[in-house]
Amino acid sequence: MTIGVWILGDQLWEQQAALQSCSQKENLPVIFIESLQHIQIRPYHQQKLVLVWSAMRHFTEELHQKKYSITYTIADDFAQPLQEWVKANQITELRVMTPSDRPFIQLIQNLELSCKISLIPNNHFLWNTEEFNHWAKHRKRLLMEDFYREGRRRFQILMEQDKPVGGKWNLDRENRQPPKSKLHTPPTQWFEPDKITQDVIAKVQSIPIPTYGEIEPFLWGVNRSQALQVLDWFIQHRLSDFGPYQDAMVTGEETLWHAMISPYLNIGLLQPLEVIQAAEQAYQQHQLPLNSVEGFIRQVLGWREYMRGVYHYVDVDYPHKNWFNHTKPLPEFFWTGKTKMNCLHQILTQVQRTGYAHHIQRLMVLSNFALIAGISPQEVESWFHAAFIDAYDWVMQTNVIGMGLFADGGMLASKPYSASANYINKMSDYCKNCAYSHKERIGENACPFNFFYWNFLDKQRNKLQTQGRMSFILNNLNKMSAEELQSIREQAQKWWTDIMPT
Ligand code: SF4
Repeated sequence: MTIGVWILGDQLWEQQAALQSCSQKENLPVIFIESLQHIQIRPYHQQKLVLVWSAMRHFTEELHQKKYSITYTIADDFAQPLQEWVKANQITELRVMTPSDRPFIQLIQNLELSCKISLIPNNHFLWNTEEFNHWAKHRKRLLMEDFYREGRRRFQILMEQDKPVGGKWNLDRENRQPPKSKLHTPPTQWFEPDKITQDVIAKVQSIPIPTYGEIEPFLWGVNRSQALQVLDWFIQHRLSDFGPYQDAMVTGEETLWHAMISPYLNIGLLQPLEVIQAAEQAYQQHQLPLNSVEGFIRQVLGWREYMRGVYHYVDVDYPHKNWFNHTKPLPEFFWTGKTKMNCLHQILTQVQRTGYAHHIQRLMVLSNFALIAGISPQEVESWFHAAFIDAYDWVMQTNVIGMGLFADGGMLASKPYSASANYINKMSDYCKNCAYSHKERIGENACPFNFFYWNFLDKQRNKLQTQGRMSFILNNLNKMSAEELQSIREQAQKWWTDIMPT
């Protein structure tokens, strides 16, 4: 019997489950396939392709030094190189760690190979799917806060016996400071591309498949050692101040105090528990502020695990959900960044340059605009998946369809994350340099976030009334004069006619 292991581009860790399941490592046949098949679904960000392929090539070298028998294939699809490799190595059992994304699981299950195929349960998350399903199955609502607390208890993170350290589970109230004065942010930990990465950049530049974004400067880490440096940099220089300004948005400050580790976590270069423990250890050893440490740990132990758990828990039709029945197409400026709305322009051009935006830029500007403007959730989700360097089905479907656009009708968010320019003006400096006025709701200078916001509340009033947390804002809508409401409706309609004349 000969076992072979196929390692996917987001499974780049030596302790990953399929490798770990093999007792004999020396000369173990291992295959990586750098395939064009998967990248034709949507125009991926060029830096995402460089990150994944360069990280695969770097990981291959690591395994090679450890005497694995490596085959690295560049191909159009997955099936043919697998068939050839299975035959050449007389493999009788192919082991693959269960992919995080459902379509890839199906792809593997549909493969026709002359050997047994074994999916080994994924160990890149703290909760496996059975454990999450067990937690979720008897609950009326899948509240992230409940799940997060369960995670704190289960993994004994920031706990004193059965109580949270400091007496509170959640210190978010201390973490919403607007960027009032000049912020002195630490530099970002970036890396110059080495020869392997330069080769991948040249390859991506030459592929005849539509892509998105700018490929250079490419400054992301591409191996575990660099990913660990980013984590260490964050713990030493950013974590202590991460909390207060984690929702702030500042022109020219693209990373603020954010960790910048999601691209590495999502391809296996970092593991969630080591990240969480590094933050907790820094809290204990250096007395870092609890609001910062707790806020960061909640992102990894709470949100990240929860998004992935819900993705596998919900029905397969979840990606098609559209509770508000929003059908407007995604405006072209999402791809080009060419819009007079300064907040969107700043963030969209940043995403083009780096593949990155932080969670409030994603949620309260990009998703918020798509939600209140009535854009199709499926078009928005596909764009998010294309544009971001850390995007995968498991994280984008729940984040965009569920949290950002409330298209699941509230399975995972307790209310729609909709906001007018007021919020963006409070939490950013974008409005200061915008062609529109954040104060005006109607008229030529009115900020589109304002008339779309009120138009959204008006159009979706019946559905929103069922969401208890919306009653205060709906009362404000009720106080608006009929004339003003009519002008808002007309202006929202005119905006669409202007960008898409028939
Ligand atoms: Fe964005 Fe409106 Fe502010 Fe301009 S005024 S930056 S469009 S929120």
